[in-house]
Amino acid sequence: MNCYADRCRNLTSAISATGCQAAILTYWANVRYLSGFSGSSGVLWVPVAGNPILITDFRYDEQAKGEVDNSFDIRIVSGSWISNIEDMVASANGPVAFESEYVTVSEYEALKEAFPQLSLVASTDLVGRLRRIKDAKEIEGIKHAITTAEAALQRTLAGIDWTDSPSERRVAGYLEAELRAGGSEHLPFEVIVASGPRTSLPHATPSDRCVVSGDLLLIDFGARFQGYCSDITRNFVIGSPRDWQIALHNQVLDAHEQACAAVGPGVLCRFVDMVAREALVAHQVDQYFGHSTGHGIGLEVHESPSLAQRSEQTLEVGNVVTIEPGVYLPARGGVRIEDDILVEPSGFRRMTSLSRALIEL
Ligand code: ZN
Ligand code: ZN
Repeated sequence: MNCYADRCRNLTSAISATGCQAAILTYWANVRYLSGFSGSSGVLWVPVAGNPILITDFRYDEQAKGEVDNSFDIRIVSGSWISNIEDMVASANGPVAFESEYVTVSEYEALKEAFPQLSLVASTDLVGRLRRIKDAKEIEGIKHAITTAEAALQRTLAGIDWTDSPSERRVAGYLEAELRAGGSEHLPFEVIVASGPRTSLPHATPSDRCVVSGDLLLIDFGARFQGYCSDITRNFVIGSPRDWQIALHNQVLDAHEQACAAVGPGVLCRFVDMVAREALVAHQVDQYFGHSTGHGIGLEVHESPSLAQRSEQTLEVGNVVTIEPGVYLPARGGVRIEDDILVEPSGFRRMTSLSRALIEL
């Protein structure tokens, strides 16, 4: 089986239905998904008839030949890709789809200038709709990224002397090193470590604040394997938790579990978000939940679908999404519980296996 040729075929059958003869892909994650090429500079030309062509420069010559199979042609060019596609445009002999979300205005203008006769069709979600449905190999990649992240967190929790008041930055650095030592490719995002009142900042960057007894501690982290990301958040308390910390954690956990239980094929993404929000309404803390309930993960740590209040998307079998409600009490503290969930025919499968309890360190 050649998954990349199949993916390109799925794309060409979608574009030919709209009358296009080829598609130009410029966004790195879409190029990687369709071809396997992981370089940061590559453009993919996918014609309805004939082999797809990867256009890159000499820096990626050897890498491209190693990563891309022989159902693709590779073209090593100098100068802009637009000045090197004349023969492709001529042989397509018809409208060409491009990714309106990613082609820059200057690229678009250069295309118009170089090929005044060419009919360019602005398309949205050209590859995103394919990427949303993960195949077995992709699910395996995400699972490995989850296992790697979970093991790194366990080593971090055990390896740090929590009585020694480590700074958030030291904790983050320790975890990042363990993620890498455990085999993660470049991290999907910088580890978030927030302690004490700083846990009320949903996207806190680790500071030099020291983690001390009585603090809540929030850690949001992930690993990457074969390009695929994991994204997990867990919460801890240094020493014994106080009543309000336990209550806060239980409220978020309730919203998290209810939202997970709502996941299944055919379910509106905004419904899952609403379930989390309604749970927090019942606990009278919904005003402190300002972000969406989750997002897709894959080659990118944030990708489609979006589990947000206004999302029009519907969950499908093979989607992998996060469920991550949070409550952030200003200047006091916050909790977010984030797991990675696979949509299956019968409902959902939790891919993360770490305990979701508030753990005492
Ligand atoms: Zn996260
Ligand atoms: Zn997330």
